Amino acid sequence: MSSENVSTRGTILHLQRLSTEDGPGIRTTVFFKGCTLRCEWCHNPESLSRHRQVQWLANRCIGCASCVAACEVHSLTLTVEGIVRDRGLCVTCGRCVEACPSGAMEMLGKEVSAAELTAELLKDRAYFEKSGGGVTLSGGEPTLQPAFCAALMDALHAEGVHVALDTCGLSAPGVFSELAAKADLILFDLKLMNPDEHKRWTGADNSRILRNLEIARDFVSRSGGAKRLWIRTPLIPGATTAPDNLAGISAYLGASFDGSVERWELCAFNNLCRDKYERLGMRWTFAETELLTAQQLTQMGEWARSGGFDPSRTFVTGAAKAS
Ligand code: SF4
Ligand code: SF4
Repeated sequence: MSSENVSTRGTILHLQRLSTEDGPGIRTTVFFKGCTLRCEWCHNPESLSRHRQVQWLANRCIGCASCVAACEVHSLTLTVEGIVRDRGLCVTCGRCVEACPSGAMEMLGKEVSAAELTAELLKDRAYFEKSGGGVTLSGGEPTLQPAFCAALMDALHAEGVHVALDTCGLSAPGVFSELAAKADLILFDLKLMNPDEHKRWTGADNSRILRNLEIARDFVSRSGGAKRLWIRTPLIPGATTAPDNLAGISAYLGASFDGSVERWELCAFNNLCRDKYERLGMRWTFAETELLTAQQLTQMGEWARSGGFDPSRTFVTGAAKAS
């Protein structure tokens, strides 16, 4: 690939090494910053904004006010309740992060080039080769940074690394086609079949998402087995778990995708992200929602297997509420 491409820069949140939930084998998942949807249940609220953000960790703060002194735009105030931020003033210069002696100020988001990130990812090559794994590009929404995403996929392929694209499916069809064509595995989120419900819970209807899913299917069908397509549906109580939604997705997949979708995963709701919302000062609709029970997950699996898609390729994943 050209040196111009590998120098393409993008913003990522972090890497998750030794992942076994984002495709086959042992993988390193790259979380891109920025998303095209606004799902009310989002488990990565720090990845919604395309831009870098500063977060304050109350449990690390020793109240020294070094950050307040370092901030030239007076975005920070030390109060009896801790640091209060005027986010509208912050220009994400990072001075408060550098000044903080206890790591209580943290920068979310890091700009890297495709070459720099590839070099970092290749440190895990032995895991990929031994396990049949690779790298998964996730987020956020990787297709929101198309040039960086494409450059990274090219650079990883040049090193023989398997690349999965984990996508919410909402991007311009031209952009989606270019990136889907490069992926070895597409992990495609399909949340709700009803377009009004989709808009209500995620901020956008699903017309473009379904169109892009057809594009993904066509690439996979034409690849002669070289490419794979997995569908993932989050099981969010009260939002996606209705029987008609799960059976409806199953019917849709069964009617048009049965030969090309290798696996449909129904991913159980978890509330591990609750603290992230608190740290970012954001409200989470599902903060008080309990995990689904094993019985509920079994029932949802049955609804999903009743709609027409191959039951042997339909899986419920994730933890149930302890009884
Ligand atoms: S990142 Fe810069 S502008 Fe924002 S709060 Fe910190 S010092 Fe102030
Ligand atoms: S510099 Fe760090 S420890 Fe000191 S008040 Fe600011 S956030 Fe707290």
